[in-house]
Amino acid sequence: MTTTLCRRQFLATTAAGSLGLVAFGAPARAAAPVFAQRGYYLLPCRTPTLGYEACRDLVDCLAEDGANTVVLWIAGGFRSKRFPLTWQYNVEHANVREDFIGGLIRHAHTRGIQCLLGFTPFGYDGVNQYPLEHPELKAIGKDGKPVGEFGIHCWGWNLCPAKPESQRFMMEYAREMAFDFYPDADGLFIESSDYAICHCAECGPKHFDHEFKFVRALSEETWARKPQATVVVYPHYFSGAKLRFAFTEALATKQPFDPRWTLFFTPHSAALEPGLIARAKGSWWWNEAPSRFDLPGIRAGARRAREACGTGFLPSLECYSYVQTHEEFGEPWLKGRRQVPFGFGWLAEGASPYREPPMRAARVAYREYSANPDLSDAAFQAVLGRELFGPDWQPAQVEDTLELCRVFGTDRDWTVPAPLTTPGLVESRRKSGRLDAKKRAFLRDQLARVRAIVARHRDAQAPGARDLARIAQWLTDQWQGANAAFLEG
Ligand SMILES: [Zn+2]
Repeated sequence: MTTTLCRRQFLATTAAGSLGLVAFGAPARAAAPVFAQRGYYLLPCRTPTLGYEACRDLVDCLAEDGANTVVLWIAGGFRSKRFPLTWQYNVEHANVREDFIGGLIRHAHTRGIQCLLGFTPFGYDGVNQYPLEHPELKAIGKDGKPVGEFGIHCWGWNLCPAKPESQRFMMEYAREMAFDFYPDADGLFIESSDYAICHCAECGPKHFDHEFKFVRALSEETWARKPQATVVVYPHYFSGAKLRFAFTEALATKQPFDPRWTLFFTPHSAALEPGLIARAKGSWWWNEAPSRFDLPGIRAGARRAREACGTGFLPSLECYSYVQTHEEFGEPWLKGRRQVPFGFGWLAEGASPYREPPMRAARVAYREYSANPDLSDAAFQAVLGRELFGPDWQPAQVEDTLELCRVFGTDRDWTVPAPLTTPGLVESRRKSGRLDAKKRAFLRDQLARVRAIVARHRDAQAPGARDLARIAQWLTDQWQGANAAFLEG
């Protein structure tokens, strides 16, 4: 195994070495943080029920997690005056009604957290509504026809970036968001689409060149106003690599790279590029682990980011609370129902889910593993135990917390809750032949373990253990009466 130091690690090493020469015998200085940028990727545009108080508390949670950076994906979730069409689908959203994100950003600054405004050029939330009035701007699919409707929460059509009207719309919408609505934000998070490119005669292999034209112009305008602004972009414009998305393949382009950009890499849409990472102001790695209660995945993500010489690890902590208007992720039963943040169905609508124990466990995992990706299981469990149960924590309490994390993370997808939280979803799968005997047996075993958690903690007095009993009891309550039969056979 070779030991190659990143530039950042090299500088940290030499700085420590110099200090050692000058101040021999002095107490050792605290080690530099593994990641200069720490925090999460969040999509407040998809939590219409979370108002200012809940979001402010979320920011306080981020501060507790050692975060100094947050992506606030807000396209479609603010009351654009220039393009009211972009938020009609989201008219119930608390920020569309009350416009509190500016105040939230200012609160984040008091907690030492920089906020980046997230959106996708020519696609996804808000932006994909524009073809309702301008169908001629729809991107073209591989079959030569306009693309079909697609989305998560916000269903619409991605735009052809070669069309001047698409460029004008994107520029004016992004300017309005960044410069008129939220000028206190610290920069932009420009998330290149992971599902669609335009195959029209002008785009095709040049799709990302057209997208880049917008990205470069907006970046330059942002830096002209705020030279220190963080502008996060995807590597597709510079790498020349072949890209494999969930639904399509595309060829990245090779445009000149400005080292003021921060690059964003993901397991599903933007592979790590060491050559680019060495030249960028910052390079951030993402994964979905915290939003899926995947604690080992959080550690793996922190390690991957460190190995790649990333300056940041900003995984997803997103949850949703919108009413689904379309079938998403192959689950027709969820259509027409309100998404329940993380499947925490015991919470009142509008309550923040981020302080509930399974989510606290994921957040502690992020805080600890992003500070020390090599932390042992035993050391992590000790920290988690103290945090949730106090100095007299018991290993069984930690194991029960980890079991609840596994329960809430089972078969989760972006808009799909874990089976034990949602019996109706389980029944719909059973009826459509998507719940085989093996899965039913697995869920029965899982429910039995949850019942055992109730039995262990139902008489507990301490708050942490009472929380375990409360959540486990709520889960078992979902499987009373007729619902119990859904797992039989
Ligand atoms: Zn096109």
